Amino acid sequence: GTLRGAPLVVEGISKKFGGNQALSEASLRAEPGKVTALIGPNGSGKTTMLNMICGFYRPDSGRILVGDNEVQRLAPYRVARVGVARTFQTPNIPDNITVLDAVAAGRYSTDRASMFSTVLRLPRFRKVRAADLDEGRRALEMVGMAHLADETASSLPLGMRRLLEVARSVVSSPRVLLLDEVASGLDENEVQRLAELIRALRDAGGTIVLVEHNFRLVLELADSIVVLAQGSVIAVGSPHEIEENPRVLSEYLGV
Ligand code: ADP
Repeated sequence: GTLRGAPLVVEGISKKFGGNQALSEASLRAEPGKVTALIGPNGSGKTTMLNMICGFYRPDSGRILVGDNEVQRLAPYRVARVGVARTFQTPNIPDNITVLDAVAAGRYSTDRASMFSTVLRLPRFRKVRAADLDEGRRALEMVGMAHLADETASSLPLGMRRLLEVARSVVSSPRVLLLDEVASGLDENEVQRLAELIRALRDAGGTIVLVEHNFRLVLELADSIVVLAQGSVIAVGSPHEIEENPRVLSEYLGV
């Protein structure tokens, strides 16, 4: 596939914030060509897990491997260089840049702040980064937004901004792609479009980790589901197994 995904292995990660044990010995595996969903109630540790995979936080203990690379002690930009990309829950796009520039800038960004500085630091962005613009166009084609390349990014409706956020994360050809609540606030049509895109990225060989509240979308898309509750993994399995797991039903779905 074109995304050349690498296996992601999270082994027994723990993280405490003050007295609050956000994660306890949590593990997960995500494979190339698969969608691995990470679900759980609010406060169960999903965002903390993503933040540790990206290098925003360091785990107190445990290991994180991307292919053969141990990343749990690396700074975010170095984790990005190893090939980990993520989207953010609230796409926050500078006011006056085009869709194409916003996507092309994704090639350099390890976080939102650096996307701003990349764009702001390069006044001759168009000229200087022709190769990146080509990559950007390819990514926009992948998400079906090529015709919007010259529009102002921040003026797009939410559904389009979320697809743009995904395009921005794939422009660097990541080996692991972390999608954080990409479906929230989208209508049913937009969710289906996003689902098609995620399937296409998976079929292109991507290693995809999906943090998602929309349980139906998770059941529809995931090859494997990891369930967190209060910082611990309480279940791992296929959508069918998770759907029928009594502990998941009581703890997560509250039934
Ligand atoms: P989720 O994404 O599943 O809603 P989080 O990972 O955001 O869960 O939160 C897990 C726990 O860790 C929560 O109790 C939350 O308050 C705490 N937490 C997360 N990030 C921080 C932080 N930077 N400082 C202190 N506590 C945090």
